[in-house]
Amino acid sequence: MEVPLISATDLAIAKLSDILQPVAEELLPIESVLGRVLAAEVQADRDSPALDVSAMDGFAVCLAGLHAASLAQLDWPVQATSAAGWPPLELLPGHAVRIFTGAAVPANANCIIRREDTNEYLDRVRFNLPKESLQVGQNIRRRGENSTLGATILGSGAVINAATIGALASFGAAQIRVQRKVRVAILNTGDELCMPGAEVAAWQIRDSNGPTLEAWLASVPWIEISARTRVADRLEAVREALQAHLENSDAILLTGGVSMGDTDFVPAAIEALGGQIVFHRLPIRPGRPVLGGAFHGKLILGLPGNPVSVAVTSRVIGLPLLQRLGGSADRTQRPMVRLAEHDGKQLDLVWYRLVQIGKDGLVHLVESRGSGDIVSLSHSSGFIEVPVRASEDSPFRLTLW
Ligand code: AMP
Ligand code: MG
Repeated sequence: MEVPLISATDLAIAKLSDILQPVAEELLPIESVLGRVLAAEVQADRDSPALDVSAMDGFAVCLAGLHAASLAQLDWPVQATSAAGWPPLELLPGHAVRIFTGAAVPANANCIIRREDTNEYLDRVRFNLPKESLQVGQNIRRRGENSTLGATILGSGAVINAATIGALASFGAAQIRVQRKVRVAILNTGDELCMPGAEVAAWQIRDSNGPTLEAWLASVPWIEISARTRVADRLEAVREALQAHLENSDAILLTGGVSMGDTDFVPAAIEALGGQIVFHRLPIRPGRPVLGGAFHGKLILGLPGNPVSVAVTSRVIGLPLLQRLGGSADRTQRPMVRLAEHDGKQLDLVWYRLVQIGKDGLVHLVESRGSGDIVSLSHSSGFIEVPVRASEDSPFRLTLW
């Protein structure tokens, strides 16, 4: 059997993505855009740096006509000082300008000699280094070397983080076009569910999927949780909850109720509502019964109720679909890693296996009793994606919680 180039899961995600409607854009001041998704390219409004500037504290000189003797002489008069924020000077022949990091390089100067390599006497300076070690352009940041006027600095779809927000500020982007937040409702189905804190009978369980999803979504800065509620295992209850929450949400994440049991009403409720089911069941473990659907461009994602399935499928299938709604092109959250050691086990489907990053900094498999094992889940740092017939020492995609 050939392993297809694109996995069934990626294909299912792509098919559903096609019918999802990305959220609208809005214009916000730079103070309010941390964590938001850029909706338009950001271009440089000037060269960076805007002119030649010094990379060091030192002295600006002109190397032309310089010979060994003149370098060692004490008679380099210091013409003036140039500091960051001061307009550029013009260097006189045979002179040096005292210059500090970030200051404009004077006209006619072509080299900065580091202050560490000099001795200063009042308004004169001596350079303590061989002429051969000097080069034109030394310690000068050239105009436009980072970027030139009009160049694209950040593409649309980038998530604005601490590293990128400085670039926005630097290029004068005061008002920024971003996607509005994606509103997500969490519906946890199951007659067995109790609230943490309530008395719980042996045949009941405490809802852990609701808190798990809420915690994860709260950590995604371009998402806003519109509601979290429990829903009884009745067709009408699931249909009504879907209808009510679709009103003010862009996506509904359901847990439970998508398998083969008589109390699994999510597929029927979506159909009763007039929604579209795009995929149901994928060749993955955990999370095989997962269901993806849509209603007028909004996402309806049914995650199987077992806690490990919810944690995994929300990331593997939920995140790319939510990114589609939110316009995010961020793929940085899933780097490739190798396992420190492998147990040789294989499956005939894509297997998401819990891993822990050990004190040794390496990635180790976590022993797990399966998709209901919330204890092993809580000991894991995340999971790796093991494709069908993957070789043991190949790199695997890693998702951290
Ligand atoms: P289901 O997908 O509804 O058949 O549920 C599969 C398993 O996950 C069952 O053992 C449920 O009791 C459990 N489960 C369902 N929902 C939750 C939840 N919100 N929190 C914890 N466990 C759940
Ligand atoms: Mg159930």
